[in-house]
Amino acid sequence: MAIASRDEWMALLQAARLPYQPTGSLHLAYHDDELAVIREFRELGPGLGYACQWLDAKQVEARTQAVLSAGLLGALWSPTEVAVDPRLLLRKIPEFLAERYGVKFCFGCAVRSIDLPRVETGAESWTADAAIVCAGEDFETLYPGIFAGSGLTRSKAQILRTGPQPGGWRLGPSLLAGLSLRHSPAFFNCPSLGQLRERIARELPEYDRWGIHVMVAQGPDGELTLGSSHEDGLAPEPFDRTSIDNLIISYVRNFLQAPNLDVSERWHAIQARHPEHPFLVCSPAHNVRVVTGLGEADLEIGGLEKVPHVADDQELWARQARAERDGDQNRAGDAICRAVRSNHSAVRSNHLGCSLR
Ligand SMILES: Cc1cc2nc3c(=O)[nH]c(=O)nc-3n(C[C@H](O)[C@H](O)[C@H](O)COP(=O)(O)OP(=O)(O)OC[C@H]3O[C@@H](n4cnc5c(N)ncnc54)[C@H](O)[C@@H]3O)c2cc1C
Repeated sequence: MAIASRDEWMALLQAARLPYQPTGSLHLAYHDDELAVIREFRELGPGLGYACQWLDAKQVEARTQAVLSAGLLGALWSPTEVAVDPRLLLRKIPEFLAERYGVKFCFGCAVRSIDLPRVETGAESWTADAAIVCAGEDFETLYPGIFAGSGLTRSKAQILRTGPQPGGWRLGPSLLAGLSLRHSPAFFNCPSLGQLRERIARELPEYDRWGIHVMVAQGPDGELTLGSSHEDGLAPEPFDRTSIDNLIISYVRNFLQAPNLDVSERWHAIQARHPEHPFLVCSPAHNVRVVTGLGEADLEIGGLEKVPHVADDQELWARQARAERDGDQNRAGDAICRAVRSNHSAVRSNHLGCSLR
């Protein structure tokens, strides 16, 4: 899924002539259990469609000046990661879609209710044959009944950014280390992962407590983005924890040597997330499809996850129609939720790595 998603991102970036950096990534190993997991993944990866390569410490140093060499055993090199500037793309992609495909964007316009063919917004009433609802973490407003039983929750992530690095210093590949191996589902089939998890639970319990894994990516102006933590819960605290930021910085210092690690920006992300599934697709009413909960699926180098086409899945529409004939709309939506959740539970292991924005 991550690989298919990357292909779509590349097609979009090229069609819209938007800038990107094909940096690749390195998962660094400083401990024997990290080395074991990476070596196991190197055996499994090609069969799962991942292009990856083991580099010894000397080969890593030849590829980047940013990695601390003391204790470095080697790294998993993945050539497919691409870094983009999200703040630029968020502005440019709507412009491209409007210009190329005539998409009309209505910013600052909240949808209050959908009862097709009527869609009520704050100030207007629209007519539509079908609706696809991608409301992100605001999953309670439009269909509270469906989402109460969906298992969705929210996930809060704290993220940091340094100022630009002096003298045009470049990171090279995005960097990840041992903590990320226990976070990315791509590695979950590696037999040595349990041992690595046990060591981290024993030696670094605070990293488990706050769901921290650490990655570093460089932005277009040379700044480094560092993150992140993962706190789950329907009502995340608005207050950020300095202790989490300090844990992230402290872990980064184990593997990164960069001229400027002074933090210039801190923020948190709140995303919808399903604890067991990579995303959620529901059909709460005929011709209405809800797609959300991509929160954890974000953590892919290779870009955002690919969501199945939401308007043409005949099996799902047929199940919904059968349930609707029985006269219970909530049950119809639930049936679709269950069907999609079970259909897609198998793809969860298809993730590799992480990307940072
Ligand atoms: C700071 C941050 C960093 C992230 N980093 C990464 C990363 O590095 N890599 C990655 O792949 N993913 C990352 N993510 C996650 C990624 O952004 C999300 O997974 C993705 O945006 C979810 O897409 P979505 O369309 O489901 O929801 P969103 O992008 O949240 O979009 C939902 C939109 O619907 C609007 N909306 C909600 N309700 C209504 C309504 N009733 N009427 C009208 N509009 C409504 C909201 O205002 C919002 O604009 C990050 C997220 C954040 C916040």
